[in-house]
Amino acid sequence: MEFRIAVVKGDGVGPEIVSEAMLVLDKIGAKYGHTFSYDEVIAGGCSIDINGVALTQQAIDTCKAADSVLLGAVGGPKWDHNTDAAKRPERALLGLRSALGLFANLRPAMMYKALADACPIKREIIGDGFDIVICRELTGDVYFGEHGRRESTNDWGTIGYDDMNYSEYEVERIARRAFEMARVRSKKVTSVDKANVLETSRVWRETVARVAEEYPDIELNYMYVDNAAMQLVRNPGQFDVIVTGNLFGDILSDEASMITGSIGMLPSASLNESGRGMYEPIHGSAPDIAGKGIANPIATILSCAMMLRYSFGLPTEADAIERAVEKVLDEGYRTLDIAAKGEKTIGTHEMGELIRANI
Ligand code: NAD
Repeated sequence: MEFRIAVVKGDGVGPEIVSEAMLVLDKIGAKYGHTFSYDEVIAGGCSIDINGVALTQQAIDTCKAADSVLLGAVGGPKWDHNTDAAKRPERALLGLRSALGLFANLRPAMMYKALADACPIKREIIGDGFDIVICRELTGDVYFGEHGRRESTNDWGTIGYDDMNYSEYEVERIARRAFEMARVRSKKVTSVDKANVLETSRVWRETVARVAEEYPDIELNYMYVDNAAMQLVRNPGQFDVIVTGNLFGDILSDEASMITGSIGMLPSASLNESGRGMYEPIHGSAPDIAGKGIANPIATILSCAMMLRYSFGLPTEADAIERAVEKVLDEGYRTLDIAAKGEKTIGTHEMGELIRANI
């Protein structure tokens, strides 16, 4: 099969890690008989330098025409002080999310047995480890409701307000995505809300319950967000797929990342209704280590595995990448960020080469 991928290498370590990931895709192509072609897109800080804005219409058009987008990271100290919104690197991310209609953000958080020591949770709690995917709604909720300020009628000064809302339509489509995903995993969905307090959450819960009737093979439970935050550190192994709104998902996905112990290992996917997506590591552009050849490329490589699984319908190929990563870790190879004190480390390219050799 043939696939066109728009590649946004971005800033900082972006070009180094994305180049390794592209070579991994090429290896998959050669082994399984697929062709991946790449359209390089300039976006983020580098685009501000070249085009004066973080995201051009041409960049958007190229990404929209592709079968999916692979992104490294954008931003860095050179542009972080810019006040004009069009000249802020993150504008590229927000602009692409909205242009591509990406409503579902998938963030896996799993513990590799070989990296168990990096997990900040005690061994007796993590037991056999955990393998969670947080399925976060990305285009609604309090972030996109009406924002404003008004003066209080007593002497309490200015009041800031942000309208939290979810339509049944928005909840249905993210819930379906979560149930579908659970079907190819451990068949369990936890819907996280705050239905004891928020009307938005009550609509959320009722809608999730209705969608669940279409998926009798999936076990569904509900959890209030405060309890979910606690359970993630108390017993992360109880979760499979967590589906939640934009605000709660924002916080819980960062918490889930932290309990894995390494930011350089975690991929993400943001999908639209047609199943196309933008795939990127969860970490930033790591300007402190950029250009040194020591960044961990695994989060980006695993993002490619997600692309193969969720947008291209190639689960066997995705498995091959994930197994290769696990094998290299089991053999004891480490980049600096995941190495224990005194452990020998390898660079970005060497890690990429080892993963490719194991595919
Ligand atoms: P960061 O994720 O870039 O770095 C945090 C720490 O983790 C640093 O010490 C860095 O060296 C390390 N790290 C990150 N990725 C690594 C990797 N692959 N291998 C080894 N170590 C790694 O976060 P930050 O320092 O807060 O942000 C730096 C820049 O990145 C900022 O300009 C920020 O706006 C931007 N940023 C971009 C994205 C994105 O593009 N999606 C996300 C977050 C931050």
